[in-house]
Amino acid sequence: MSNPLLKVENLTKHYALGTSLLRKSGPMVRAVEDVSFCVEAGETLCIVGESGCGKSTVARLLMRIVEPTGGRVLVDGNDIAGLDARALRAWRRRMQMVFQDPYSSLNPRLTAGQIITEPVENFERLSRKQRHALAADLLQRVGMRPEMMHRFPSELSGGQRQRLGIARALSLEPSLIIADEAVSALDVSVQAQILNLLQDLQQQMGIAFVFISHDLSVVEHIGHRVAVMYLGRIVELAPCEALFAKPVHPYTEALIAAAPVPDPTRVRSEVPVEGEVPSPINPPSGCAFHPRCPLAVERCRIETPPLVPMPDGRIVACHVRAPTKERSTLP
Ligand code: SF4
Repeated sequence: MSNPLLKVENLTKHYALGTSLLRKSGPMVRAVEDVSFCVEAGETLCIVGESGCGKSTVARLLMRIVEPTGGRVLVDGNDIAGLDARALRAWRRRMQMVFQDPYSSLNPRLTAGQIITEPVENFERLSRKQRHALAADLLQRVGMRPEMMHRFPSELSGGQRQRLGIARALSLEPSLIIADEAVSALDVSVQAQILNLLQDLQQQMGIAFVFISHDLSVVEHIGHRVAVMYLGRIVELAPCEALFAKPVHPYTEALIAAAPVPDPTRVRSEVPVEGEVPSPINPPSGCAFHPRCPLAVERCRIETPPLVPMPDGRIVACHVRAPTKERSTLP
């Protein structure tokens, strides 16, 4: 069987807080714990969860902007942790990122055309004519007029700036784009345009996306599969339709119940979620969701539930909804 485009194995990131020359160890922030998933070519995997659940840290780990505490990220079967600077540069051509805030991610001193061609010029020299042709082509692909290549980011609307960020990501013809809250700063109508654009580009170019969002309506619109994260861990990973039709993990159920429903015929789950996300510095024992979970039993306080495959292909970490066959010894 061929390797998936992206394979993430047991990815973990802990940050030490308050260390200094005199104080070598401080409390740990467990930002990402034992996260595993695959992404196939041309697929969109969405990662969803409340603020602070670790989803943006996963994005940074995938891009190797931060180094993991443990685990591996494999692209076409190659572990990116083992790449030297030159190989890492070549690999970065294949994975690009689109950020939440298009304005702060674009150099205000460069024109749109320069912003688009800059990544390519890090790898090869382009003539003036080639630069012009590349910028014009990519602007058209993202639905902008070629003459906009002469404008600065401050002369563009929010939606145009995000289109420009996408054009820049496309310039290196990546296989995978990591989109971190890529539409959350935009108006709803512009959001829909950008989501449709991403879907069109995926169909035309076979690009895979890891799409990180806190917004379930966005995820439902664009995702093929969805990973739900809670306090650094994946708690449910399922095909998008199945997840929204019948969430299994109580946290997924609560997230969907809390989301606005544009379709009045859809029946909402009644499971409420109360309280705040606990601190990742001192996460609750056992299942980290247990202080907020209406189904929690004694075991939840003690044992961290493993991700268990369900008959319909999803995986779920919950002692009640996806019990393991063998119970470990309880005190
Ligand atoms: Fe709730 Fe227990 Fe399942 Fe965690 S393991 S989601 S606390 S029922």
